[in-house]
Amino acid sequence: MLFDPRPKERRGDLFDREKEIEEIKRSVEKYPIVLLLGIRRIGKSSLLKVALNELRNGIYIDVRELYFSSGGWITNTTLTKAFERSLNLSPFKRRILRFLQNVKGVSIAGVSIGFERDVSISEVLEALNKAGVIIAFDEAQYLRFYGSRGGREFLAMVAYAYDNLRNVHFIFSGSEVGLLYDFLGILNYKSPLYGRIYKEVTIEPFSRELSMEFLRKGFEEAGVDVKDEEIERAVELLNGIPGWLVEFGYNYIEHRDFNRAIEGVLAKAERFIEGELKELEKRSHRYLLILKAISMGFNRWEHIKDFIEARSGRIPNSRLAALLKNLEKMSWIKVEYDGLKRYRIVDPIVERVLKIL
Ligand code: ADP
Ligand code: MG
Repeated sequence: MLFDPRPKERRGDLFDREKEIEEIKRSVEKYPIVLLLGIRRIGKSSLLKVALNELRNGIYIDVRELYFSSGGWITNTTLTKAFERSLNLSPFKRRILRFLQNVKGVSIAGVSIGFERDVSISEVLEALNKAGVIIAFDEAQYLRFYGSRGGREFLAMVAYAYDNLRNVHFIFSGSEVGLLYDFLGILNYKSPLYGRIYKEVTIEPFSRELSMEFLRKGFEEAGVDVKDEEIERAVELLNGIPGWLVEFGYNYIEHRDFNRAIEGVLAKAERFIEGELKELEKRSHRYLLILKAISMGFNRWEHIKDFIEARSGRIPNSRLAALLKNLEKMSWIKVEYDGLKRYRIVDPIVERVLKIL
């Protein structure tokens, strides 16, 4: 169902995106490392799952979930367990049993794969290399919370696989594009992955026409009549972001009322933002103030600075610059020039919610 709010896993449940799925599949066959980028709720996890399902030798690991379920610190055990779970869920499990049989620390009972404490992921990868495998890390920028050295051991493992295991391929997906690049360090000569070749696939919002078609098709599928004019208004507000279009459709079908459907989208966005902001606030309470300022139209450097200083005291320029840079790296804001430098909230729905928060 198009308006099902969960991530999709089959091509038939997705609207459009044929080109993107093919691009992901083609890229991962050709390149050892693929980056799948795009803002939150654009459809990365869905596309990743659909592509992996079709490729049939993929493993999916949601790093963001690991981060939260392990209390903000991803240990070797957490990652190993996640790997074990994903292997057991993967459609090519039966095909790899014989390759894993003789790996130290791997136990096989029937068709169930178990990792003991002393298992070495590098040795598992060496075994999987014989079958060929794709390992996808969703929201991979959270891997910087792996181990005690900002995820360096993880990167060293990827570098080892890159150099030695031709049939092991990685996909790293991320909403926080700048953070993902910082973490992988492909451009940083001190990083284990420095200079490695990778392919970037960026998922863009739907055009106005596609967004209209998406809503029409979803409503048709649900047997609900919606006026063209309402579809047009929704598309104007939701800016081609599939996650919000789905939320709108789902709420409309529930309430049969345009305003309540839009309120439903905003309520969902609010819950989502509150969760994310809690994380941000742990690092600095000024992040929220900055976002608030920008959403209210105080979008130039001096105005943001005044806004913050009026509410929480003096902030040195270097500190403000660092916070703004981080928000940009987390894809909350972007910089625009119209003669002057201005900061903007990337997602207009997020902007609306911030304004009233
Ligand atoms: P991301 O991982 O980029 O945050 P998700 O894959 O979780 O995005 O998608 C957000 C929501 O949008 C999900 O509920 C998913 O069902 C829906 N969605 C995304 N892309 C599409 C699409 N092409 N067709 C139908 N639904 C989609
Ligand atoms: Mg996702």
